[in-house]
Amino acid sequence: MKFLEHRAKEILFRYGIPIPKGEVVETAARAAAAAESLGNRVVLKAQIPAGGRGRAGGIKFALGPEDARAKAEALFKTRLITPQTGKQGLPIRSILVEEAVSFRSEFYIGAAVDRSQGRIVLLASPRGGIEIEETARTKPDAVFREEIDPFVGLLPYQARRLAFALGLTGESQTQAAAIITGVARAFLQNDASVIEINPLALTDEGRLLALDAKVVLDDNALFRHPDFRPPADDPDADPAEAAAARVGLNYVRLGGDIGCLVNGAGLAMATADQIQAAGGRPADFLDIGGGVSEDAVREGFKIVVSDPGVRAVLINVFGGIVRCDLVARGLIGATKETGARVPFVVRFQGTNAAEGRALLAASGLAYEPAETMGEAAKKAVAAARGGSRS
Ligand code: GDP
Ligand code: MN
Repeated sequence: MKFLEHRAKEILFRYGIPIPKGEVVETAARAAAAAESLGNRVVLKAQIPAGGRGRAGGIKFALGPEDARAKAEALFKTRLITPQTGKQGLPIRSILVEEAVSFRSEFYIGAAVDRSQGRIVLLASPRGGIEIEETARTKPDAVFREEIDPFVGLLPYQARRLAFALGLTGESQTQAAAIITGVARAFLQNDASVIEINPLALTDEGRLLALDAKVVLDDNALFRHPDFRPPADDPDADPAEAAAARVGLNYVRLGGDIGCLVNGAGLAMATADQIQAAGGRPADFLDIGGGVSEDAVREGFKIVVSDPGVRAVLINVFGGIVRCDLVARGLIGATKETGARVPFVVRFQGTNAAEGRALLAASGLAYEPAETMGEAAKKAVAAARGGSRS
């Protein structure tokens, strides 16, 4: 679960991390009022669940309430497209209006799970700001790290070492160590998977301030943090994911053009790999799981083809508890309702595979059968390349 910037900042604030004064608004009039109370120079920050806003025009400076109103109005009308949003971009539903801060330098502080070490790692870099991804790639030496021992947590000397690596001295070094300690505590206590402060700015007055924040929690631990559970009508939820959840299925968007309907997450990932190996890109995977009903299969297929980016669908079912004939009935039902809008490839193996294939053949549906996963992936890639939607 990923929080918007202002929620991430609220969480970090509780761990002693200083943030600028600000207000979240949902209308241009409120942005003007916020600017009025915050002072002359403010920053308007588009609240979308993605980064890269600075470069994409999602961060605007305004002088006075009228300027803030005009700029907020323009932001509310845009869909923001950043390298992290996908091509369609995201609507801006709220704006964080903050006092604009002048600063001398921008640092990066992060915490993440290092899977290769099986440990939480804290990261710090004196080269923060919008170039951090580039810096991490081209100058990895400029990113310093400390692993947290799960039994003892982050030790004071580790926080001091990172603060020192930022090139800070005196009072601000002490402040940086406290911020780093706060990030580690926030990470552990909330079962986070990522926390980032970028930039952590050193203001002209010599104070450290978190100008941007990102907090992602591990969904599997959300049961331990009921306060953080998203509302059922979360406007930022992926609509396909939400629709799938309503019928008890798991949908994961991957961004390519081949939709995948598969039983079991392991098989789904293997299917995605096969598509990639055949030179294609999976659009998603929809895991229909074990005890699925015909209705859920039908809804699942409709969800997969509702993505306008999908140019072919691969149905890969290894029947165990799931019977292939039931899946076939669901598919036939779905295509009756929606029409066969994209070409699809079906690979059935296991329980009632022959019955499933016979049902599909008798239905008169145009589809490509496949025996193996490799063959199915190749056919789906070819169909996505050649196929055009009707
Ligand atoms: P991101 O691009 O989505 O990561 O958005 P950020 O919140 O990090 O903003 C991008 C850049 O805008 C930062 O690196 C800062 O340089 C600048 N910025 C953000 N907030 C402020 C602010 O209050 N004052 C000033 N002067 N610059 C800011
Ligand atoms: Mn940032």
